[in-house]
Amino acid sequence: MSVRTRIAPSPTGAPHLGTAYVGLINRVFADAHGGAFVVRIEDTDQARSSKASETAILAALCWLGLRWDEGPDVGGPHGAYRQSERLEIYHRHARELIDKGAAFRCFCTPERLAKVRQAQISAKETARYDGHCLALSKDEIDSRQAAGEASVVRLKVPDEGMSSFEDQLRGEIQVPWSQVDMQVLMKSDGFPTYHMAACVDDHLMEISHLIRGEEWMSSVPKQQLLVRAFGWQMPTLVHLPLIRNPDGSKLSKRRNPTSIDYYRRIGILPEALLNYLGTLGWSMSGDQDIFSLDEMRSAFDITRVKTSAPVFDLVKLKNFNGRYVRALDQDDFVARYAEWLSESDAPKRIAALVQERTEAFEDIASQVDYLIGRRAVLAPEDFENPRLETARQIEILALVGWSLERLERWQRDQIHACCKKICDALEMKFRDFLSPLFLAVSGRQVSLPLFDSITVLGRDLTLMRIREAMESLGGLSKKREKSLRKVFETIGAPPDNE
Ligand code: GLU
Repeated sequence: MSVRTRIAPSPTGAPHLGTAYVGLINRVFADAHGGAFVVRIEDTDQARSSKASETAILAALCWLGLRWDEGPDVGGPHGAYRQSERLEIYHRHARELIDKGAAFRCFCTPERLAKVRQAQISAKETARYDGHCLALSKDEIDSRQAAGEASVVRLKVPDEGMSSFEDQLRGEIQVPWSQVDMQVLMKSDGFPTYHMAACVDDHLMEISHLIRGEEWMSSVPKQQLLVRAFGWQMPTLVHLPLIRNPDGSKLSKRRNPTSIDYYRRIGILPEALLNYLGTLGWSMSGDQDIFSLDEMRSAFDITRVKTSAPVFDLVKLKNFNGRYVRALDQDDFVARYAEWLSESDAPKRIAALVQERTEAFEDIASQVDYLIGRRAVLAPEDFENPRLETARQIEILALVGWSLERLERWQRDQIHACCKKICDALEMKFRDFLSPLFLAVSGRQVSLPLFDSITVLGRDLTLMRIREAMESLGGLSKKREKSLRKVFETIGAPPDNE
């Protein structure tokens, strides 16, 4: 059997480091066995998926130097590679499952499901579907469907016994069926859920090795039921450990930028980032930590992937990158730097604002420096302000950071409205309120207009600067963070999200 691997990103946000990490392992594993690597887009969540996110994810993976043999952009014999273009396939398979008695139609309303769930939680039972619609007759199903009643398709799960499966890194794993929910397979909007779509596609795309994040391990028992019902073979399973922050928490944008674009934007070289990801949880024999994709693919052995959580450390990444930068020959260094500069469209996006403030071109660089490169490092004295205590400044930064994190549309007016709402809730003058933000974002008291700067910097860079400014002011204690989170909840979502 030929080796075929895949990644299946959901296009619901910025290109995530985790996708790159899992993609790298899938790519080198396929290469090490002369196999193929597939990219499939899992856009089954209609509300959260976007074409812009798909484009950004593919572009980021390409920038990193990961190529795929089949995918939505390059095509291939097992297309379509976008799940939203495969709905007929899932419907056909759902009908087959119902005919075989492995799945059933369920008409329960969200209200009923919520009540059952609440009752189970109060009785300290595992919250799961209670089987209410399991015994509906064919006639009843037909007439309710004919009457236009909304329904889903659910998976039947045995009452007793265990699911047992083998993970290549972790050995045998057992899960009692009593802990497995009667998963929705087809939603009332006609789209499949992850479980249905991934299982069907992994089979039809002839995926031999499923190498994915460990958060998906809990879906294996459901996948096993589906695979058995269809009479298929389970792929070999490899669940990779989740990447963590240095403090052990799950890598999340709350603490570290998780978007690949952030690292591109700050001038990390793609080969250095890929190499660094390659050292997470895996190592070359000997102590060689600098290696190319080619070297990794010829030495790769999946059984040497550690199951302990790999740590993504920004300081180490920068150190790695520095070694790469210094190893460039000088012409290359100049060329790569020029390429990076030309990619930054930040100054172009606010050209009109810069132009208004320019008498001679020599005035430009110092106005836009914090948009292209790092802002100045801040000390607590920089924030000294007779009208605003340090504690208050930290609160403002935290509240704005949390709110911007949730903002749906990263646009000037929305960012402005988001800050204004917090300022009004704190009953402050807008000018005073904005002063720590000016500093956090630009590193100075006077800069190009704040909301335009935030817009062009983008979410990752802005949030990182706010976090760093809070740290230079001494940070927020756990206790204060807790009480401030309450204030934040009363202020509510950014106006644009409501
Ligand atoms: N769409 C899932 C994700 O976003 C893919 C999980 C898998 O690899 O099976 O991570």
